[in-house]
Amino acid sequence: MKQESPLLQVANLAIAIGKEEIIRGVSFTLGKGEIGCLLGPSGCGKTTALRCIAGFEPLDVLEGIRRAIHQLEEGRAELENAYPRAVSPDGNTVAQGVVDEVFTTCDRAWRGIGVIPDSGWRLREPYAAFDAELRFDVGGIVTTESAECRAGDVLQGWITPAQCAAFGQRCTPRSPLGAPMVSSEGACAAYYQFRRLAPA
Ligand code: SF4
Repeated sequence: MKQESPLLQVANLAIAIGKEEIIRGVSFTLGKGEIGCLLGPSGCGKTTALRCIAGFEPLDVLEGIRRAIHQLEEGRAELENAYPRAVSPDGNTVAQGVVDEVFTTCDRAWRGIGVIPDSGWRLREPYAAFDAELRFDVGGIVTTESAECRAGDVLQGWITPAQCAAFGQRCTPRSPLGAPMVSSEGACAAYYQFRRLAPA
């Protein structure tokens, strides 16, 4: 049988920022209809690698910000596609079909926010044998958050990171108290890295 050539081939991807090597030796291929998943601890470079592969450029990010500001000024809050050169209005229908076959939505608890109805995914019944929540006793696992951390308020837009009393003092990227300070794309880490705003 004739082997189809991969639609995406990544060979020995390496990324460095200045002299610091962020990613080294990432290689994989994806064929038609295949879905890949990058796994790794927070901050290991997954988003950086995807950005590098997908071609998010600073202009794409600026366009997203421009549209978000327009929505803010016009009192709108809706989903817009600011990346039409790569993302079609219907999205990846093959991936959507696979996700729909395997998963269904369920209520999920979000760190710092609480339970949001229908905000999570769980495996459908035919895939129950692979469901870790059913196979293992993980129901009682609780993540203890710092009592000082106001990540929920930051994530919901009630305060800016600089309005958290721990920001830049007891909470920094080297010694984070909450998730938004851990990875570089987190709101608190971004505030710390780029603006270091004093509390308002
Ligand atoms: S600055 Fe730190 S403690 Fe404050 S909300 Fe952000 S992550 Fe939590």
